[in-house]
Amino acid sequence: MLNFSFTEEQDYFRKMLREFAKEELLPNYSKWDREGIMPRHLWRKLGELGVNGLRIPLEYEGSGADCVTAGIAAEELGRGDFNLTYAVMLNGLIGEIITNHAREELKREWLPMIARGEKIVGIAITEPSAGTDAGGIKTTAVRKGNVFVLNGEKSGISVATVGDAFIVFAKTNPELGNRGISAFIVPADLPGVECKGYEDMGNIAVGRGSVYLNDVEVPEENLIGMENNGFYQVMNGFDLSRLLIGLQCVGAASQSIDETIEHVKMRTSFGQPLANYQGVSFPLVTHYTQLELIKWQAYRGLWLRDQGVDHSKESSSVKWLGPKYSVEAIHECLLLNGHYAYTKEMAHEQRLRDVIGLEIGDGTAQANMMVIAKKIIGKEFRSVPVKK
Ligand SMILES: Cc1cc2nc3c(=O)[nH]c(=O)nc-3n(C[C@H](O)[C@H](O)[C@H](O)COP(=O)(O)OP(=O)(O)OC[C@H]3O[C@@H](n4cnc5c(N)ncnc54)[C@H](O)[C@@H]3O)c2cc1C
Repeated sequence: MLNFSFTEEQDYFRKMLREFAKEELLPNYSKWDREGIMPRHLWRKLGELGVNGLRIPLEYEGSGADCVTAGIAAEELGRGDFNLTYAVMLNGLIGEIITNHAREELKREWLPMIARGEKIVGIAITEPSAGTDAGGIKTTAVRKGNVFVLNGEKSGISVATVGDAFIVFAKTNPELGNRGISAFIVPADLPGVECKGYEDMGNIAVGRGSVYLNDVEVPEENLIGMENNGFYQVMNGFDLSRLLIGLQCVGAASQSIDETIEHVKMRTSFGQPLANYQGVSFPLVTHYTQLELIKWQAYRGLWLRDQGVDHSKESSSVKWLGPKYSVEAIHECLLLNGHYAYTKEMAHEQRLRDVIGLEIGDGTAQANMMVIAKKIIGKEFRSVPVKK
């Protein structure tokens, strides 16, 4: 049986979020960008709508929804406010990591607050000297009695300036490479934690920055999962976040395409609507087609995840081409809207700046191609890290 339809509940959820995105998010999308504000009240509103807790079980005040439903949220919110879709992606990833690997007390403490949108939790892996090569991180976590003492710098971290806590990855056994990394939940108000924002070209409302850890004493209960196993726990989570990112980007680009279709029907040149010219309509058709392909590959990947079937290569294919096709589509829309679209009066320029960020965040195109190559060619043919 091959069935591409969504359930009635999913259709209703999509309709509700599309209206919410249009009425409440889109009119203020550029406001947060201009003012440099992360709209925490909207994050809480998403809690009321059940969006933050999609991948959190009902017993921890989540919605206990499937991954396909989380994809719908990412796509629809992307139409209204791309930066707010970080709530779907981060809470989906973090909700799953805490649910699947943390101790019961940590789940009871954090999951309801995340689901309600009261607390914002980021994920901190990247460092100044290790991004794509995540196994090369240098932050250390040294056991001292019943605490771990963390030292290092995490860079490029989404929600760094507004996060209430971070899931931090640190080396508990530097000798063991990837197999010596552990994950901890680190509240941002612990002594020794310092967060500094960046002046990014986009995603301004996300508050990306560095998280500095100076002799931070983290209770051993905050260890997530098994010691030295952090790397493998989060890698599986990326298979979800990468699919959601693809849909976030497709949502934003589809909104630009819809707005541009309206524009080219109304605007005339040489006595005819722009839409009459194939030089105008064919690029729109090209981008629409590419976005549709990504969209269905993304939902397929999410469906495979819901079935418990391996979906790493589907996820990586969506992550490397989804943001790329979306950036190309938005760029074309900007051009088809003429010079006004080059001003900040229209949303295309901001969408372009915002979506480019996720060509890098959560793994670049090359990082994702490495995953696919390993799957289709074989892991014995991957590039091997040089031993120092
Ligand atoms: C908007 C945004 C949000 C982010 N949010 C987070 C977050 O919340 N948490 C977090 O931990 N990190 C986050 N990051 C960081 C992000 O994950 C890293 O930037 C990314 O993994 C790339 O690492 P890097 O910047 O160190 O680049 P590098 O790893 O130095 O790579 C530089 C370039 O070289 C290429 N490259 C590297 N190795 C290879 C190879 N073997 N073969 C071919 N090409 C290669 C890369 O593809 C890239 O083009 C975010 C980044 C951005 C832009």
